[in-house]
Amino acid sequence: MECNYSSDQIDIPSSFYQELLIWWQKIRETADPDNNCKYIIWNNKEILIDGNSVFYKKYFVKGIKYTNDLLFDMNNIESFNIMKRKGLVSNFLIWTGLRKSVPLHLREQKSNSNVIFDVGNYRCRHYYSILIKFIYERPKKWLMLADKFNLTEEQLSKTYLLPLHVASEPYVRSFQYKVLNCILFTNDLLFKIGYIASPNCTFCKEALETIQHFLFYCAVSQAFWNDVIYNILSKLSSCGYLLLSDVIVGFLREEMGLENYVLLLGKIYLWDCRRNDNKPSITHFIQILKNKYDTEKLIAQKQNKYQSFKNKWHLYERHFLYL
Ligand SMILES: [Zn+2]
Repeated sequence: MECNYSSDQIDIPSSFYQELLIWWQKIRETADPDNNCKYIIWNNKEILIDGNSVFYKKYFVKGIKYTNDLLFDMNNIESFNIMKRKGLVSNFLIWTGLRKSVPLHLREQKSNSNVIFDVGNYRCRHYYSILIKFIYERPKKWLMLADKFNLTEEQLSKTYLLPLHVASEPYVRSFQYKVLNCILFTNDLLFKIGYIASPNCTFCKEALETIQHFLFYCAVSQAFWNDVIYNILSKLSSCGYLLLSDVIVGFLREEMGLENYVLLLGKIYLWDCRRNDNKPSITHFIQILKNKYDTEKLIAQKQNKYQSFKNKWHLYERHFLYL
């Protein structure tokens, strides 16, 4: 797996393993073109003797692996004698033949500190993240979001990663993704595709039900958020008000994990109220938060991950455990 082989030069009877080698060759060439494998002598597609790559086990066990182990700063005789003194059993012609077959551009090894593929330490998730990078596209609303809330590239990245850091539930994460990408099916959208008769807001029935109106500007939602600030957020972090960007994007400061989680749950709660035709109630919402606390506590105990649980919930425990 470390060698710079060519799958054409290796005869493997199993087509499964053949395919794996082809795949590995391709992904490494694309994702990590400067990999040090280029300088490994053995099975190297650029180091050919009689048209074939080679592997000399006797050399390998003596620690000869990279082209600079062939001591190109000396001539054939000097280098051969040194290796002989180190215990290499070989004849001069084979040694010289191997040295001659190394192309000039590989004789001086450039050190590459930027290791992308570390075969020894890589796990599935590392390969997965590299494969994902090949097909990664920016979310379509990336620029619109940057424009609307005046966010830098770094803040945008944080915005999209935030739900992954503060919530473990796939539903919560994907809901926020829909909010950021404006793909929540509010009445405004449903009306445009001819699914319902009125585009107006489910709560107030007055304004167009866009995502921003529904989650923030609507009087019903405003009343709910004021209750959330008064009853929860002000206790967690002396937060006295919420801006549109706080509700849509979240707080982008590092230490506000629980506050962001509360905002995510709040948005989902409003959405659930809309679907069930209920009026938002802060008492109900506080109970939902308590249930989340209890569930995550139980999971943390079972999985023995109490520290990360504490990191997330310690402020909640300080202010709300009496409920
Ligand atoms: Zn409304």
